[in-house]
Amino acid sequence: MKAITVEPHQVESARFEMVPEPDVQYGSVLVEAVAVGVCGTDVEIAEGKYGWPPPGKKRLVLGHESLGRVIDPGPAKGFKKGDLVVGIVRRPDSVPCSNCAVGEWDMCHNGQYTERGIKQIDGYMSERWRIEPEYAIKVDPTLGILGVLLEPTTVVMKAWEMVTAVGHRSFFEPRSVLVTGAGPIGLLAALLGVQRGLDVHVLDRVTSGHKPDLVRALGATYHSGSAADLPIEPEVIIECTGVGAVIGDSMSKLRAGGVCCLTGVGSGGITSRMSIADFSAAIVLKNLVLVGSVNANKRHWFKAGEALAHADRTWLGQLITRREKPENFQQALNRQPDDIKVVIQFSEV
Ligand SMILES: [Zn+2]
Repeated sequence: MKAITVEPHQVESARFEMVPEPDVQYGSVLVEAVAVGVCGTDVEIAEGKYGWPPPGKKRLVLGHESLGRVIDPGPAKGFKKGDLVVGIVRRPDSVPCSNCAVGEWDMCHNGQYTERGIKQIDGYMSERWRIEPEYAIKVDPTLGILGVLLEPTTVVMKAWEMVTAVGHRSFFEPRSVLVTGAGPIGLLAALLGVQRGLDVHVLDRVTSGHKPDLVRALGATYHSGSAADLPIEPEVIIECTGVGAVIGDSMSKLRAGGVCCLTGVGSGGITSRMSIADFSAAIVLKNLVLVGSVNANKRHWFKAGEALAHADRTWLGQLITRREKPENFQQALNRQPDDIKVVIQFSEV
């Protein structure tokens, strides 16, 4: 079969090439790939900045935002031929740490977890892949190719859960949320905010195009410019940019007692106008919480599947702005200004 592979930490090593059929050690459920979403992590791995091959191998099959169709369910109960499934990305560390031991591998303490398509396990950008039944999530068949949005939805489902968990340290009935960044993660965070009945505001740099339209189609309010100038005082911020200035400016708008969940991973950038002590003082004096959130566990995958199943199909469909064939993976990895979510489509749904 053919797969998109990379040699981690080698520049421009990505290839669409023949590889052996998926090994049974990967799981008893055999799946035919339908589509795989591309995200910033895939681009970083392809650029040689990140990623680890499986032990004893040089190359890694890329891809972690999967969608496939079961070809052979094997002996596992609960799956049948033709089911649409998505593969969970992370696997618990083998020690295991206390969090991995209780299934909360997203909160792994020792960093020895593995991840499909990223860290030591082959990913999903191959014509066929195998998966352990307990790590395969069935998606609502009426979602079709939109099931490929499940993995990014799990990220924001966990973020929302963090906000709720932290918020309940005191009386907490939020009415408004600011989402910073209108990429796929930000837009999905906004969707979940609308599903929670909140007054949703989304901030991004662009002033026209898909992003403002998609925000307004949700019934949410779109803003561009500086967060510091926003005429709102949200109780919740879901931060999806990783940009220091955006984080600092938006935190200044957070209502006392509010929660900001950071999901963006940035680096460098301009030094904030505010010192860490000044920033801390503002957090203390307003009882604010700044909480980081990455990855997701099986509960978030299940809940994200339910959230997608309840979402408007036309709106979700507009998040997928480009579909590329596997042989054109290079185009998929090259980001275009109008892209929201680009997927590599292996077969028809
Ligand atoms: Zn662990």
